Amino acid sequence: MIIEQKIMRNVSLTAHPQGCKQYVLDQIAYVESEKEKSNLSEFPKKVLIVGGSTGYGLSARIVSAIGGNAQTMNVSVEREPQKNKVATPGWYNSIAFEQEAHKRGLYATSVFGDAFSDATKREVANRIKEEMGQIDLLIYSVASPLRIDPDDPTKVYRSVIKPIAKPYSDLSVDVQSGVVEQATIDVADAQQVEETIKVMGGEDWKRWIDYLLKRELLAPGVKTVAFSYIGPSITYPIYREGSIGKAKEDLERTAFELKKSLKDLGGDAFVSVNKALVTRASSVIPVVPLYITILYKVMKEHHVHEDAIMHIWRLFSDRLYSGQHINTDEKGRIRVDDWEMEQQIQDEVLRRWALQKEGSVLVEADLEGFKQEYDNIHGFGYDSIDYGVAVDPTVV
Ligand code: NAD
Repeated sequence: MIIEQKIMRNVSLTAHPQGCKQYVLDQIAYVESEKEKSNLSEFPKKVLIVGGSTGYGLSARIVSAIGGNAQTMNVSVEREPQKNKVATPGWYNSIAFEQEAHKRGLYATSVFGDAFSDATKREVANRIKEEMGQIDLLIYSVASPLRIDPDDPTKVYRSVIKPIAKPYSDLSVDVQSGVVEQATIDVADAQQVEETIKVMGGEDWKRWIDYLLKRELLAPGVKTVAFSYIGPSITYPIYREGSIGKAKEDLERTAFELKKSLKDLGGDAFVSVNKALVTRASSVIPVVPLYITILYKVMKEHHVHEDAIMHIWRLFSDRLYSGQHINTDEKGRIRVDDWEMEQQIQDEVLRRWALQKEGSVLVEADLEGFKQEYDNIHGFGYDSIDYGVAVDPTVV
């Protein structure tokens, strides 16, 4: 079939197998070019990535495997392809990555299932036990709109991205047309905040660690890392001080509980505050695409722009596995968002934000860069691929 890109309300409904492969190959090439310069002896050797098929989780998988020759297992929810139906990009990415890892003699596998369920945890644990022994790093990188309660499957929690104190109104951008528009978002009620914490907070991360500890599948010195975001005050009402911010606070609190749980093993738990990035998850947050288009332009002009693989490479090589003490902020968080949050970058973002006008086309921002990255994460927008040629959607 000929696979065309179909986008509805900032959500891409299709993905291209060859393009997803190219996306993975480009990340592998980046790590291969950087690895000469780092002390890779510190890198982990057996890594479980929960949410490792796209975005930051996929990059963490690629950095672990290609950078440190690690065995990797991904856990993610995917739609598999059929003869006339495309798979999710995460399915194509995982298959493409595993083909490349196997070519290099590296163990790499995926468990496609709901990370929140006990059945998936059991299956993953059984496979770690049989095929890997123990793991020395667990990356938790799930971004999900919902969670089925593992203790009571009739309960479904939904995460929302809404303000808490009062309705929030600010400029946003329609990425497809490039026109600036006003976005107004209602407040989340108490129940919605609770549910968002259930989905995106630390409860499931803790369940993974507790369960793998009980099964004795965590190696001495094991580390676990989950990802958070803070961002500038301009996005606080919708992000940091909104329903998702409450979930991130919960995630950050959980890191302290996990530090205690892992102490006897000489292990450690961290939240890493990452930079804003175009991913499937971030593209559907109101206002954030406007912020990202401006941020990308400013960071590129200052030569400090990073995509997912560059950012995670820096997290591993400069922070987690540099062989030095891991510096954190006053709340115990690793701050790889330091380049994004630099004063001169943020001042310039604010200046450009003030130039935007409702109903006009975005100015002094990197709409093209945003679109290019959004296309790429779904396997589109590569000049090397002829999208007019029919492909079998079941083959990577
Ligand atoms: P993403 O959408 O690219 O990746 C999410 C991953 O979670 C995918 O692998 C997906 O398959 C998996 N997933 C979703 N539901 C699942 C389920 N029920 N079971 C198993 N896997 C499931 O998102 P991302 O932007 O890379 O986000 C990953 C983490 O990074 C999130 O915690 C997010 O808040 C955080 N983060 C993102 C940004 C950003 O700007 N994108 C910035 C800082 C932190």
